[in-house]
Amino acid sequence: MNNCKVTLYVIAISVGVLFPAIYTNAEQITTKSRTDMIEDSLNIVLDTMQRNEEYFQTLATLQLMFMYDPRFLHYTELKEREALKHNQMQHVCASYSDRAIYYRNKEDIDSFYYWKKKMDPLALELKEFNYYFYLGNTEVSLLIRKGKVEQAIQTAKKLYETAKEYENEDGLTAANMSMGTAMMAADRHDEAKTSFETALALLLKNNGRQSWLLNCYSHLILICDNTGNYAQGLEYANQKQQIIENYQNGEGRKKVNDGYMYNEWCDVILKKTYFTLKLKNPEKAWQLLEKVRLLLPTISEDMQKQYHHACSNYYNHIGNYQKALSELNLVYDFYIQSPSNKLILMKEKANLLAQTGSFQESINIYKDLIALQDSTNKEWQNSQLSELRTIYDTDHLKLVNSELELKNKHSQMQMILIILVISIIALIFISFLYVRIFGIKKKLELSEAQLLRDKEALKIAKEKAEEARDLAQKAERKESFFANMSHEIRTPLNAIVGFSNLLVSDEELSDEERILFIKTINQNCDQLLKLVNDVLDLSRMESGKMSFSFSNYDLTEIMEEVYSTHKMMIPKQLQFIESLPAQSITVHVDKMRLKQVLFNFINNAIKFTPEGHIRIGYELNREEKEITLFVEDTGRGIPEEHQKKIFERFYKQVDTDQGTGLGLSICTVIAEKQGGRLTLVSEVGKGSCFSIILPFDETIQ
Ligand code: ADP
Repeated sequence: MNNCKVTLYVIAISVGVLFPAIYTNAEQITTKSRTDMIEDSLNIVLDTMQRNEEYFQTLATLQLMFMYDPRFLHYTELKEREALKHNQMQHVCASYSDRAIYYRNKEDIDSFYYWKKKMDPLALELKEFNYYFYLGNTEVSLLIRKGKVEQAIQTAKKLYETAKEYENEDGLTAANMSMGTAMMAADRHDEAKTSFETALALLLKNNGRQSWLLNCYSHLILICDNTGNYAQGLEYANQKQQIIENYQNGEGRKKVNDGYMYNEWCDVILKKTYFTLKLKNPEKAWQLLEKVRLLLPTISEDMQKQYHHACSNYYNHIGNYQKALSELNLVYDFYIQSPSNKLILMKEKANLLAQTGSFQESINIYKDLIALQDSTNKEWQNSQLSELRTIYDTDHLKLVNSELELKNKHSQMQMILIILVISIIALIFISFLYVRIFGIKKKLELSEAQLLRDKEALKIAKEKAEEARDLAQKAERKESFFANMSHEIRTPLNAIVGFSNLLVSDEELSDEERILFIKTINQNCDQLLKLVNDVLDLSRMESGKMSFSFSNYDLTEIMEEVYSTHKMMIPKQLQFIESLPAQSITVHVDKMRLKQVLFNFINNAIKFTPEGHIRIGYELNREEKEITLFVEDTGRGIPEEHQKKIFERFYKQVDTDQGTGLGLSICTVIAEKQGGRLTLVSEVGKGSCFSIILPFDETIQ
């Protein structure tokens, strides 16, 4: 695949180069066609290529073909697009640099700066220092060319700092060379010399670029000339010659086949001639001139002119002014066009004319020279003034900026101070609050502890009060118990004593009266007996001395027994009804005690039901797991305010009610012992329903 592409590439170039060669007659058209055809061929190849190094090299070839043509921009943009697409940022960087150089060549300074500014950060980020420093150097040269020497120095300084920051030796060399050039332009020769010497040392140390090395020597030679340091100038020229000759594999100038090097060699020899003359060694100078003269037909026209100028200098030196003048005339018209050489040449010619007797001509040239010098000085002054103004403006702007910055800093400081003071106040306030809160918390804790202690004391006091109340109640109950007891004993006892006395003392009593009295005495005896039994029962139960014997019983059977026992005792006017569920259930109870409760309910019902019915039975509440055994009557009923109290000892709704008033309190104890409770539902005039509720045990069914 790769081979295929290389072949395509070669074919493209070949077609582009060879095919147009057929049209040799129309040279301009042929050149144009050839370039276009190479371009077309390369474009075809380009489309088929992968976006790799080879692709970008091909693009570079196309760019080189159109260095001064807008097509250069087209290929540069293509390079940028493709590089961006394939994330090849080094080529993006190159595309920026290419455009900067393109615009530099076009003298479009704004566009040059636009692309340079775009490239600079990217080049540093990618560490593509070559691009960075090359454009930096270009900028310095540009500034010098525009007469902005001070700016050129600043730019060179920036380059130097960047090179130091990135520790880039090539960058350091480039920055030193830039600085040297800028210093030379500012006529600060010593500083220029130091910069170039540093650059030279770096180049020699790092075996740096040949072109840079030659450039360094050229500048050093020029500086030596400007400062009158001819011996050192000669030394540098010798070194430069050595370098050039080394480039020719150390085999001397004959091997110089590179056009550029060839001219460089001649140039350095002519420089040596110049220094040798300055060092007053015309013989050596002549030898050197001879060396160049031998090569005259092969060297460039410019170099030939330099040779003649050097010869003019030589003849001038040895006093052969006529020859010197004729040699100078060979180059005068050409060199006079260059502003940098103009003054020197005019001076030389005027001098030589004077030496050869052509005074009028010499005076004319001197006049021109003075006028030119004046205007040049003015121009120079103006340019320096304008630069100074620019620098002043920049400095002024900087000053204003720094003043603003200072003000800004001042207000920032003020702000910081205010914030600091507020923070300190806030801190003090928070600390104060904290201390306060801490104190309050401590107090709260203390008062909480106090509260707890108080609560405890209160609880103890309450317990003591309850205990005291219990004791008082007990004492009260005891008292009322004895009062009740004496009342309950005295009533039947009085009746027994009274009627017995009557029976004994009153002889006139009829038999019927006697029988009634005896019956009354018996009834009161029974009542006394019941009272004694009830009191004994209650006391045994409460002290836990009464034993309960629990067993499983069929509840229907128990209810049947209760019913049949009471059936005969029920007054005739009352109906005695039994309501039992279809399915019997088993209960775990003390049968005798359970019957005792039911008997008590039935006896009360008989006592307080003049007519209607008495109904007994039981129900199962599965949800609550309870069995309700009830005795319902249609008697006088019990008012609401009495309903709770009738379960208390000796309580009777009406004092004259028959009985001790202990029955229901005994029943309450029995129910509790069996895990149950008593309930009452009653309405005055309609009747009452007493129930004993027992727990239902599913496991024994
Ligand atoms: P006793 O042992 O004297 O029968 P109880 O404690 O059984 O006493 O009954 C207390 C009082 O409750 C009775 O004197 C009566 O006033 C009232 N009493 C109990 N059962 C009924 C009822 N079925 N109808 C109306 N009052 C009743």
